[in-house]
Amino acid sequence: MTEEAAKGPARLPILMYHGLHADADARGRFDPVYSLAPEQFARQLDWIQAQGYRCMLLDEAMQQRGDRALVISFDDGDLSNIEVALPLLLERGMKAEFYITTGFIGATGMLSADEVRQLAAAGMGIGSHGCSHSFLEDLDTTALMSELDDSRSRLQALSRRPVDAIALPGGRGGERELLAAQSLGYRHVLGSVPGRNLRARSDRCLQRLAITRNLGIDDFAALVRWQGLAPRLMQARHAALSLPKRVLGNHGYQRLRERLL
Ligand SMILES: [Zn+2]
Repeated sequence: MTEEAAKGPARLPILMYHGLHADADARGRFDPVYSLAPEQFARQLDWIQAQGYRCMLLDEAMQQRGDRALVISFDDGDLSNIEVALPLLLERGMKAEFYITTGFIGATGMLSADEVRQLAAAGMGIGSHGCSHSFLEDLDTTALMSELDDSRSRLQALSRRPVDAIALPGGRGGERELLAAQSLGYRHVLGSVPGRNLRARSDRCLQRLAITRNLGIDDFAALVRWQGLAPRLMQARHAALSLPKRVLGNHGYQRLRERLL
């Protein structure tokens, strides 16, 4: 990597989406926190374009010098990625990254193998989100390596392109997961710590902004611009949630979250 490329963009908002569902009856897997209504997503895309952001694939965005690069990403591989998100992106000439959990491929409400192929053929980015969606930091080294490597081989075979990014399931992972991913040839590792990626570097976990159903367009705008109260609130919420994660462990935290939701 050249020194220039290592510096990365001045700042890079990376948006993290999951599914797009009008309500719990929509096709795919509805989540009360992470599912956005399709028109909510469309409005956000229109705002991004009107503000002059250049919506790029991650690799391309990491080479940028300017302040206006932005990346849209989707985790898990919900069916709405192709049925709802893809047409909304294509009609605006925009691209997104899709981080797919390979063990979910073909499951009810999730993308099929052929649909992953179609996303790649439509010019979208394909990346890994593990095989089983296990939190990688809970796994021993052998299991960690196979989650990283098997998901990557499967997605490379489907997309017929190199897969060089992984979004950590649950955003969970640290130095060990980063080094393991790099040793297998991944060039970008994304977490879910909120931030704007000031002088983003590929040898660190990239920060992302979780876009949730309750987020109004003004707060969305404040997050992307990283101005006002919305970014502080998101950071505070993330910090408050990581405390029970540390105390309860990932399994206990997940049970608490399920009960609360
Ligand atoms: Zn996920």
